[in-house]
Amino acid sequence: MNIQVPFDNNKATLVQGEDIARFLDRFWSKVDFSGDCWLWKCSPDKDGYGRFSALLLGMGKSAFAHRVAYYLVTGIWPKMLCHTCDTPLCVNFFRLYEGTPLDNIRDMDTRGRRANVSGEYNPMAKITWDTVRQVRELASSGLPQRRIAKQLGVHYVSVCLIVNNKQWKEVSLYSAGAN
Ligand SMILES: [Zn+2]
Repeated sequence: MNIQVPFDNNKATLVQGEDIARFLDRFWSKVDFSGDCWLWKCSPDKDGYGRFSALLLGMGKSAFAHRVAYYLVTGIWPKMLCHTCDTPLCVNFFRLYEGTPLDNIRDMDTRGRRANVSGEYNPMAKITWDTVRQVRELASSGLPQRRIAKQLGVHYVSVCLIVNNKQWKEVSLYSAGAN
């Protein structure tokens, strides 16, 4: 599969000490485009994510592959990035989304997704403060987010939102008001 990545050279400020064309070649050659999820072919890290070795400004010698993919397409280094497909090795940028948790919720409402999914499969299912506390405890003990989700029976995206969001209170208020 030959994909055209809309890459703007002016956005390559994160990449250091490497020709951008070579960087792109090196990156996309590690991706398996045969399925709907574009899987990172190198061995995953201990949490199941792909890592890409490169000198990235302020980020040491490697970065998460899905974050690099997102950056190459958008020019934005995301503060928070989640997979809609729940596949950590996936670098299909159409399946990655960032933004504040509130943005994400509004986005789901707009697309009508929120109403169609129920129970544990709904990332916005009612989350109790008890759950939020448990998620944060497990996360600070170093347990990967996907395992936390499984252990507590909540959606992976919820865990991602809770771990990355310091204002979970706002999310709860928004949810309560919308229902
Ligand atoms: Zn995917």
